[in-house]
Amino acid sequence: MSEKTKGQTLMENLSYKKRNFFEISSKEEIDKMYAYAEEYKTFLDNAKTEREAVAYAIKLAEKNGYKPYKLGDKLAVGDKRYYNNRNKSIALFRIGTLPLETDGFRILAAHIDAPRIDIKQNPIYESDGMCFLKTHYYGGIKKYQWTAIPLALHGVIVTKEGKTVEIKIGDEDGDPIFYINDLLPHLSREQVKKPLSEAIGGEDLNIVVGGLPYPDKEVKEKIKLNLLSILNEKYGICEEDMLSAELSAVPAFKARDIGFDRALIGAYGHDDRVCSYPSLTAMFENTGTDHTVFTVLADKEEIGSEGNTGMQSCVYEDIMNAICRNFDVCPAKVRAASKCLSSDVTACFDPNFPSVFEKKNAAILSCGTAMCKFTGAGGKSGSNDASAEFVAEVRRMFAQENVCWQTSELGKVDAGGGGTVAKFIAKMNIDTVDIGVPVISMHAPYELVSKADVYSSHKAFLAFIK
Ligand code: MN
Ligand code: MN
Repeated sequence: MSEKTKGQTLMENLSYKKRNFFEISSKEEIDKMYAYAEEYKTFLDNAKTEREAVAYAIKLAEKNGYKPYKLGDKLAVGDKRYYNNRNKSIALFRIGTLPLETDGFRILAAHIDAPRIDIKQNPIYESDGMCFLKTHYYGGIKKYQWTAIPLALHGVIVTKEGKTVEIKIGDEDGDPIFYINDLLPHLSREQVKKPLSEAIGGEDLNIVVGGLPYPDKEVKEKIKLNLLSILNEKYGICEEDMLSAELSAVPAFKARDIGFDRALIGAYGHDDRVCSYPSLTAMFENTGTDHTVFTVLADKEEIGSEGNTGMQSCVYEDIMNAICRNFDVCPAKVRAASKCLSSDVTACFDPNFPSVFEKKNAAILSCGTAMCKFTGAGGKSGSNDASAEFVAEVRRMFAQENVCWQTSELGKVDAGGGGTVAKFIAKMNIDTVDIGVPVISMHAPYELVSKADVYSSHKAFLAFIK
């Protein structure tokens, strides 16, 4: 091979280029990445709703020596605890040896809710040979994508007596699935002329749940009655119990490798389980005992981080305050010394839709976990814009641990935009930056990510709490 010219060497030293994980990683590292992807797929198939994600996180946490925590519990250095917030969000922490007032918390934050189709409170009706459930979609979906695909029903029905009945049907081979109708192309002459946003309306997302009439001539709504009788037999509930139910239709697909080379993963709800899982695994793999690590997996991000389980809830600050009080330190000082990686997915550059991206600043598939210094829309509005100082500090942490990472902006300026939980943590006076896995077809029933980027996120979070 001929020697590099002076210009080539200079260009190498002075210019910056994104690097593809597969091109810069050893065989050993790539093997680790493939193994990690298998664990992640298991998590995806077992945690399709925030409730299931919390249950799965608790199972992993207990396996790793974490114990339940209630506000006000006594704590000591080295303690590993988790706070289960109404089975819908969870905070885990491990008390480090460094003084809280000067070292603060090292926070990892992600969300475990995902766009889906929620069942209304009075949902069941029969019409023309079919029985349906009325729905109200949750989060920003393109409604037409949710028709004519297999759906599963997940959630809980709490009876008047307070008994919780868990529902999870449609995922196992042999389970029945559920379905939203679309119009046949032969009769779609008018429908196909409509904009995508109007082709399927919100009240058109009715889910087919039955078609068999109850054998009694005297009854009017026979298919509905047959359904109610099945629900009563299987779950011990009646129609009125739906008033206090939280049921969601989620895609019945399992996580699968995509492509001949198995470099990619297709799944429902990568957003944001693809950051939640690495947050957990980084916390469990981290064996250092110096920093106090605090991981939040929040609910309700897809609808604005609202409510008592969303990131805007006081509960997370309450837990931090309780930890501070336990060690007799000032919470404001601790927050000021804290640092956070707020991890959520970002849009991956898609060669099928290049016009909405500004390629130089878009996340490129397999180039590692993607840091967004700012998010927001139209003039960075609604964004946490991390400081140059903090971004530089995180860069140093990543460099030390050989993390494959890139920067990212959600799309072209003024093409649209989006927000994350970062701003709610930052407003507590905590240095926070957005980071996460680039996703293709975000919010679709089946999303796509690169295994390299999932694994790189795990490594990035690990580097941050080291
Ligand atoms: Mn998200
Ligand atoms: Mn989202």
